[in-house]
Amino acid sequence: MLLITCPWCGPRAELEFRCGGEAHIARPADAMNISDADYARYLFMRKNPKGWHYERWNHAAGCRRWFNALRHTATHEIRATYKPGDRKPEPPR
Ligand SMILES: [Zn+2]
Repeated sequence: MLLITCPWCGPRAELEFRCGGEAHIARPADAMNISDADYARYLFMRKNPKGWHYERWNHAAGCRRWFNALRHTATHEIRATYKPGDRKPEPPR
């Protein structure tokens, strides 16, 4: 089981959290005037790396707040968790 550190509550069991997918997806600035294909890419296309990945997580059974995490998809190591709007950490080399 993973131990995930909520930025507000501290370390808690993985069972209290829900993953919300890739983090740092920016809505197109001119969304009403882009093609359907570009909008579909924004909505549905996500990275699927084997390695470090920025993800959104929700502390569903705790404070219910969203935050971001830098997690390795193969080892599940969580290098950092941080509040939305905080500067994202660099992945280790
Ligand atoms: Zn929390």
